[in-house]
Amino acid sequence: MSVIQDVIAKVKEKDPEQKEFIQAVTEVLTTLEPTVEKHPEFVKAKIYERIVEPDRVVMFRVPWEDDKGEIHVNRGFRVQFNGAIGPYKGGLRFHPSVNLSIIKFLGFEQIFKNSLTGLAMGGAKGGSDFDPKGKSDREVMRFCYAFMRELFRHIGPDTDVPAGDIGVGGREIGYMYGYYKKIVNEHTGVLTGKGLEYGGSLIRPEATGYGLVYFVHEMLATRGTDLRGKKVAVSGAGNVAQYAIEKVNQLGGKAITVSDSSGAVVDEAGITPDKLAFIMELKNVRRGRIKEYAEKYNLPYYEGKSVWDVIKEQGVKVDIALPCATQNEINGEHAQALVNNGCFCVGEGANMPSTLDAIKIYLDNNVLYGPAKAANAGGVAVSGLEMAQNSQRLSWPREKVDEELQKIMKNIHKAALDAAETYGQKGNYLAGANIAGFIKVAKAMLAFGVV
Ligand code: NDP
Repeated sequence: MSVIQDVIAKVKEKDPEQKEFIQAVTEVLTTLEPTVEKHPEFVKAKIYERIVEPDRVVMFRVPWEDDKGEIHVNRGFRVQFNGAIGPYKGGLRFHPSVNLSIIKFLGFEQIFKNSLTGLAMGGAKGGSDFDPKGKSDREVMRFCYAFMRELFRHIGPDTDVPAGDIGVGGREIGYMYGYYKKIVNEHTGVLTGKGLEYGGSLIRPEATGYGLVYFVHEMLATRGTDLRGKKVAVSGAGNVAQYAIEKVNQLGGKAITVSDSSGAVVDEAGITPDKLAFIMELKNVRRGRIKEYAEKYNLPYYEGKSVWDVIKEQGVKVDIALPCATQNEINGEHAQALVNNGCFCVGEGANMPSTLDAIKIYLDNNVLYGPAKAANAGGVAVSGLEMAQNSQRLSWPREKVDEELQKIMKNIHKAALDAAETYGQKGNYLAGANIAGFIKVAKAMLAFGVV
């Protein structure tokens, strides 16, 4: 058995119930095969075995009171996966599906993503199985305080700097930052995604969606084309989806789908800026359901379906797919339907939105496939820039941050392509991104000896 297969087998044996983590390890390590031969020093130092084991896992009780005074208990997590190249960095997710497997998969992916940005950030992720849906602002506030009451002792501006993710946006970051500041008595860059008034960065809300579309732009250029006139399927209606739609519009494309966890809408006329403004108000202010978009614009609404179900069942033609909702939203059948309906480019805004079967179909059909850790790295990259601004006690103008973001996405695209070619996988962004991200972390781990 190869070194890589042996490591994957051991991960499966140790934590057989952690299916998302096993999926992420399999996806990354399989593409690292070509590094084994070129780097016997990594094999000797057991880097492959070490990198799948988190530096530290913190799990804790989060008790909080609802508006009626009833007590609830949720579970909190922070997985500090690998701090070889910088302070731990990665988002917090509040969603009922959160468990240790999901946080480990996200933290593991984050190691390579952060390395790819070229900034000094280790990989981490955290969150809770708390469901913010249907909770009052005060309930969310009490939950965030209770969560931070334990998390504060594990984080710090040079130790671990969390950010947002599903269910954690500006409101939640504000509550958590306010509570941290209160108990630690320091105004410091310990969270990113902060409001502009208290240390946030311009372009941070836009960064993941914008960065995704910049990455897609780079991929399209390798085939001599661009976004102009392209039909784009976007899933989700949250932070990443909203700004991906905005940038698709700005670069001349037409976003024709949007969804949430209740259903999907197809809008062949295109989600124009005024319609996007409606989605932003609906989702960010009123916290309503995407069904209202279908009602307002008199469009068919597909209850209980994902964008990818609808594309498969209704034969919707698209050129580009941008999954921006959640993990494993595109399976093999969805991927085949996308290919059959003319899709030639997939850029992943969400983390691990494609199953291993789906990825195989993209690669077998010569689809330009931008994997999450490269394509959605713009969010964490601008978080890194927020940390830099906090350390400098300065705020950079919007144009400067956007320019840096574009530069970083260009560099990531090049690093992935170059690594793919060097390691005999020309044109394979998945292998290239994993290898480029891995090599830097592996070399740092090697430099430290056995720690
Ligand atoms: P949000 O909470 O802002 O939005 C998530 C969207 O996806 C919502 O529309 C939500 O529906 C939908 N969704 C969530 N879970 C499911 C599910 N199980 N099935 C169907 N739809 C679902 O999160 P973000 O936009 O921040 O995150 C989206 C993805 O992007 C995640 O995979 C995240 O890890 C990834 N990502 C985010 C970054 C960031 O900077 N925010 C950075 C890099 C990656 P509903 O409205 O019903 O809740």
